[in-house]
Amino acid sequence: MLTMRPRGTNDIMPGEVETWQYLERQLRHICGEYGYAEIRTPIFEHTELFLRGVGDTTDIVEKEMYTFIDRGERSVTLRPEGTASAVRAYLEDKLYAGPQPVKLYYTGPMFRYDRPQAGRYRQFHQFGVEVFGSHDPAVDAEVIAMSMDFYGRIGLKNLALHVNSVGCPACRPHLRRQLQDFFRPRLASLCPNCRERYEKNPLRILDCKESRCSELGAEAPTTIDCLCDSCLTHFASVKKHLDLLHLPYIVDRRLVRGLDYYTHTAFEIMAPDIGAQSSIGGGGRYNGLVETCGGPPTPGIGYALGLERIILAMKNQGCAIPRSPGLDVFVVTAGREAEHTAFHLLFKIRRAGISADKDYLNRSLKAQMKYAGKAGTRFAVIIGEEELKSDTAVVRDMDAQEQATVAMGEVIKYLQAKMRHAPRLP
Ligand SMILES: [Zn+2]
Ligand SMILES: [Zn+2]
Repeated sequence: MLTMRPRGTNDIMPGEVETWQYLERQLRHICGEYGYAEIRTPIFEHTELFLRGVGDTTDIVEKEMYTFIDRGERSVTLRPEGTASAVRAYLEDKLYAGPQPVKLYYTGPMFRYDRPQAGRYRQFHQFGVEVFGSHDPAVDAEVIAMSMDFYGRIGLKNLALHVNSVGCPACRPHLRRQLQDFFRPRLASLCPNCRERYEKNPLRILDCKESRCSELGAEAPTTIDCLCDSCLTHFASVKKHLDLLHLPYIVDRRLVRGLDYYTHTAFEIMAPDIGAQSSIGGGGRYNGLVETCGGPPTPGIGYALGLERIILAMKNQGCAIPRSPGLDVFVVTAGREAEHTAFHLLFKIRRAGISADKDYLNRSLKAQMKYAGKAGTRFAVIIGEEELKSDTAVVRDMDAQEQATVAMGEVIKYLQAKMRHAPRLP
C-alpha cells in the first residue's frame, strides 16, 4: 500500500510533465489573448455549494463526490468541477458590482469517485472559462470559438462541434410535459435510474448511457421542438456568429449535457480516436445558476475540458508534443581541487541564465562524460589538472562533437556566443 498510489490517481513524471507544462502555457496564452483573467479557488468547498450549484439529481452529486466531515463537523467536498466555485467566488468577492462581463479561467485538479477508465481518473485536471454578466449570444459564440481555437493550436484534427439549445425556464415546463407524455407508456422499459428521472428531471433520460434508454430516447421530443421565441432567437444568433467565423458545427438535438444548470446554448466537442466516450470538452450557458447559488439574477456561460483526455487525443492523433530540451551544460571535473573551481563556475554559469549541473557522486571523469551524454547535455565544461594549472576549461560541444580550450574568465561568454550562434533544435 505504501508504495502504491490510490486507484484513479496519477503521478505526472518528468518526461510526461513537459506535455502538461506545454498545454498550460498554451492555455494561459490563449486566455490572455481573449481577455480572460485567472481565478484560483480552494480544492474543497462546503458540500452545500455543489448540491445547489451542480444539481442534486446529477450523477456527480448522487454518486461521485468525495464528501467528508472535517474535524469541525462540517461537511466539505473535494471539488468535482470548477463552475460552482467560480460562481461562489464571483458572489463572495462581489464581482457582480464591478464592470461586466467578468471573464475568468481556472485550471487544476478535480475529484470524482468514478470507475477509472481510459483517460478518466478520480483526480483529474480541468481547464475552464466562465463569463458572467452578459446575455449576448456573441459571447456564446466566443466561448465556443475559443475552445476550437485552442484545439487547433495544439494540433488536434477531425473534431466535430456539436451545438444545441436546451431551452430556458419559460420553455422547460412545456418540454417536461412533452417528455413525460412520451415516456409514460414506455416507463416499464426504462432503466431504474430513468424511472426516477421521469419524475425528478425527465430531460436527463435523454442523457442516459443505457442502450435501452437511448434507443427509446431517440424517438422522444427534443429541446429544440419546445423552444420559446426568445430561445429560438438566441440560438439563431449563436449560429449566425459561428457562421461569421466559418466554424462548422452540427446541431445535435440529443445533446443535453449531464448538468442541471444549463440554459440556452449547450455544446460539446468530439474527437475520433479516443474510444466510445469521445468528448474532449464542452459547456453551455447557465443563466439561472448564480441566482440558484444565492446571488442576483446574472447570466453566465462556461466551458471546460479535461487535460488527461486532451493528452490522450493528442497522443492518438500523433500531435507534436515538444520535448524537454535537456541541460545546457554539465561541468565535468577531475580531482578534489578542480571540484572547488567547478562548483564556483557552476553557479556563475547558472546566474548567466544557462542551465547547468555537475557530478555529485564522485564519478570518474569518463563516467561523468558518459552521464552528461546520457542526460542529453549540450556542452561539457571539463576542468582537469591541466586546466586548473593554466586557468582554462575545455568546452566540448556534445552535439557537434568538437571542443576548444577556453580561458576560465571567458567560459560564459564563449558558451553564450555558441548558443546564440547555433540554438539547440527542439
Ligand atoms: Zn425558452
Ligand atoms: Zn436510463
